[in-house]
Amino acid sequence: MSISVKLERLIKNLPKHVTLVAVSKTKSHTDILEAYNTGQRIFGENKVQELVEKAESLPKDINWHMIGHLQSNKIKYIVSFVSLIHGVDSIKLLKEINKRAKQKNRIIECLLQIHIATERSKFGFGFDEIEQALIDTKALKNIRIVGLMGMATFTNNIQQIENEFHSLKLLFNQVKNNKISILSMGMSGDYKIAIDNGSNMIRIGSSIFGER
Ligand SMILES: *Cc1c(COP(=O)(O)O)cnc(C)c1O
Repeated sequence: MSISVKLERLIKNLPKHVTLVAVSKTKSHTDILEAYNTGQRIFGENKVQELVEKAESLPKDINWHMIGHLQSNKIKYIVSFVSLIHGVDSIKLLKEINKRAKQKNRIIECLLQIHIATERSKFGFGFDEIEQALIDTKALKNIRIVGLMGMATFTNNIQQIENEFHSLKLLFNQVKNNKISILSMGMSGDYKIAIDNGSNMIRIGSSIFGER
């Protein structure tokens, strides 16, 4: 099945309130353009260098999301064009994004990553750190925290995935308001469970572009 057919099928079955981020990491310009020509405009990348290179070469009306772990010394490369940073996992990083955004006279939208998985390798704030993080970042005028993001444990245990997504949804319900409105959770393997548990933004790579 071609990329465009997979993409169209996926979109057709998505509820209207769910935004699709097409995760194009490691994929070629040709593959991305096929999705673009099908109408997709939001793409996600997880490596700064690859993101910069693709943003320079590909159509300018693409909304690029940084979905990977971001190091503070690399923010400067993406700050002029990135439209949403998922996966922000520390106050230090938020401060640095704010500083760089200010230099470019931009306001950058960010999602706070919450650690919901049992794997230690996954990044994120703890559940009990979020309220304080929102208070501590109130004064930062060049970032806007617009939601939360989480990655479930990589497991076949559906109940566990469901519990993890549900716990993030409960936290989201506590903090959401007219600014904090995005709940980014769900990838190719678990996006249906994520949507059932309140996700309104999914990040899909292999189900559109094939295995990496
Ligand atoms: C790679 C990646 C995805 C997409 O994964 P697939 O399983 O290919 O859909 C989603 N979110 C993040 C943070 C990723 O790094």
